[in-house]
Amino acid sequence: MTRGFLDVMEAWDGESVVTAFDAATGAWIFVALHDTRLGPAAGGTRMTSYPAPVDGLIDAMRLAEGMTWKWAGVGIRYGGGKAVIAVPDDLGDEARAGLIDRYAAHLISLRGAFQTGVDLGTTPEDMARIGAISGHAVGLVDGKPGDPGPYTARGVVAGIRAAVEHRIGEVDLGARSVLIQGLGDVGLPLAGLLAEAGATLYLTDLREDTAERARTRFGGVVVPPDDLWDVDVDVYAPCAVGATLNPDTIPRLRCRIVAGSANNQLLSEADGERLHERGILYAPDYVINAGGAAAFAAIHRGERDEARLRAIVDEIGSSLRDIFEEAATAGESPVHAARRRARRFLDAAGGPPAAAG
Ligand code: NAD
Repeated sequence: MTRGFLDVMEAWDGESVVTAFDAATGAWIFVALHDTRLGPAAGGTRMTSYPAPVDGLIDAMRLAEGMTWKWAGVGIRYGGGKAVIAVPDDLGDEARAGLIDRYAAHLISLRGAFQTGVDLGTTPEDMARIGAISGHAVGLVDGKPGDPGPYTARGVVAGIRAAVEHRIGEVDLGARSVLIQGLGDVGLPLAGLLAEAGATLYLTDLREDTAERARTRFGGVVVPPDDLWDVDVDVYAPCAVGATLNPDTIPRLRCRIVAGSANNQLLSEADGERLHERGILYAPDYVINAGGAAAFAAIHRGERDEARLRAIVDEIGSSLRDIFEEAATAGESPVHAARRRARRFLDAAGGPPAAAG
């Protein structure tokens, strides 16, 4: 047993990790349920190879805790959970298909304690299959994979509006400039919504053709990825990779607000303080990027009305307004206020963990 694992075990304050071994492929399945006070656990299924199965277990435990904060951060009544399927490097397509089916059967055995969706290494088609077999997949619309990107983008716009109002004192985005890093499933619809609102766009993507296509559709200025730190803007919206906010980049930032969809934007929690010290308002990632999750949770409950789904996503703006105000009153970074608010929500749910079934 590695030291890393013992450290994780000692720090883990979750509820359970249900483990299964798939003898046919040699894969290990870890379903980590971190905190189910708000409801049955929900989180993605990650399928990838690890140096050793224990590394997959550690990943599942760590990611499940992240989901607890994500759901509680926006007050959605799901518990924190995550599944990791640690597979051998050479898993063939046929073996993989069988494994997905057996994983779905495994979810049935958990009797609804865990609902899942796409994560690294799993596809919307996998979820359609898992949903058809088990009934425990989220992210499906009438049994078919849905696209969370536009809902996530809408939530980011709601968050940007809240941040602009708080930091700049204006609700109109017409006079604001936004730099979008990453023009994929979230960044592209985000560019469309911001262009509609009249914002000036700066667009950057590792793939120049992708950025250029977005510029053709929505206008704005394409910025080469290496030059993004030199652009003077109101809002930097990271919508690509994590850890872009770190001790190297924060001193270079030339924006007043950071508000985007990327997961794990801060390299470490101290970077939240660094932003605060520089007077840059940071919208905590797990709150502002919850639009897709919020919409799909509602769809999973049977909600179909598009106006209602949009209203649910727009609530992210209200959550962030509260967080910014609480942080300002306490003279601290929104990272702390968001965590405290989520903890309050979890504690208010009280009681024992949600029962399975
Ligand atoms: P995506 O893969 O569709 O798009 C990412 C884009 O970023 C691609 O065009 C890619 O070329 C570009 N990119 C990658 N690295 C880059 C870099 N260093 N600089 C500039 N561009 C770069 O991903 P997505 O679904 O749009 O998600 C974007 C981010 O938002 C990810 O961090 C994801 O985890 C997070 N997120 C997405 C959703 C969703 O609904 N899709 C929900 C919550 C969080």
